[in-house]
Amino acid sequence: MAVSLPEHTLLTPGPTPIHPDALAALTRPMLGHMDPEVFALNREIQADLRVMYGAAPDTFTALLAGTGSLGMEAGFANLVEPGDEVLVCVNGSFGARMAEMATRYGARVRVVQAPHGEPIEPAAVAAQLDGARLVAVVHGETSTGVLNPVPALAALVRGSGALLTVDAVTTAGMEPFFMQDWGVDYAYTGAQKCLSAPPGLAPVAISARAFECFAARRTPTPLWYCDFDGLRDYWDRQSYHHTVPVNLHYALHAALRAALAEGLHARQARAAQIGGALQRALAPLGFTPYVARPEARLPTVLALRLPPGFDDAGVRGRLRERHISVTGGLGPTAGQIWRLGLMGETARPAPYLTLLRALEDLLGERGLAERFLDALAPVPA
Ligand SMILES: *Cc1c(COP(=O)(O)O)cnc(C)c1O
Repeated sequence: MAVSLPEHTLLTPGPTPIHPDALAALTRPMLGHMDPEVFALNREIQADLRVMYGAAPDTFTALLAGTGSLGMEAGFANLVEPGDEVLVCVNGSFGARMAEMATRYGARVRVVQAPHGEPIEPAAVAAQLDGARLVAVVHGETSTGVLNPVPALAALVRGSGALLTVDAVTTAGMEPFFMQDWGVDYAYTGAQKCLSAPPGLAPVAISARAFECFAARRTPTPLWYCDFDGLRDYWDRQSYHHTVPVNLHYALHAALRAALAEGLHARQARAAQIGGALQRALAPLGFTPYVARPEARLPTVLALRLPPGFDDAGVRGRLRERHISVTGGLGPTAGQIWRLGLMGETARPAPYLTLLRALEDLLGERGLAERFLDALAPVPA
């Protein structure tokens, strides 16, 4: 029996619905990874990624054949050697994943923590910075909906001489990102988050300074597949390293073009507007922001505390029967919050109208969709 895959309303904080241009691009004829047309396409991707990341002209950009976590892993694999002091900011599961990876690559990891729902304090980083070779931080912590103060942290790190790695998975492509101005040395994201391309590619950006540190390694990078020099062999020197997934390159290229054509400020405004309207629609039911400090709320993942007594599993189960996917909390926030995705194509009125109309029906409430539309008035559905 064939498995049925119905149309679905994905409101999850990744993956996001695929952009129509990316979907169309997937069906382009197959080419070889060494064909000149593919190298030309790759060049455009590299240039567009520099724009997306706000990177310097000498910043190397590429796609890794894997998801966002491979982007994370490649950074530690190339920039850390056994015994290096690495400072990792942890205020949620993705920060914890960074600390785990750095440890596996032999780093002596110092962790700067903040409670769940709160941002990393720059003063706490400053206090631990001495002697660190690399500092790693998640820009937008998906597990809690917290935006960490990367510009302030970067200013501190710049003065210390350490390298700075930033997880830009929930920000790059949806929020302006200023790798050069802030002084970020390594950044990565995943294709299926803010860009609304299919999962399977990790766009990365590596600063000239990161390359210098990489070149001074005493030992070869233990992760051969993502060795920075191997990446440059293929992306800059056009020689074979491994077979890249060209169809995914087509789709990412189209999604990235669409994002830059729309403009990062316009995308940022779209996420903010839909997020604001959603909060207004749901507030009378008792949903409140999980993150207390407004400036620490991640615009692309709206974390809302559930009303007292709300049947989280039951309601999400019934939404799921209607093919609407809503993500709950993770770990300590399980059963306490919903995390509504506002990345890429998820930040559109239509999927959230579907959710609000379904909630009106399931909860016997009225006016949710109307409040949402009122708050949204200037944005076409
Ligand atoms: C999703 C996510 C990742 C990991 O990406 P995968 O594509 O699932 O491997 C890393 N960091 C953050 C902040 C994320 O949201």
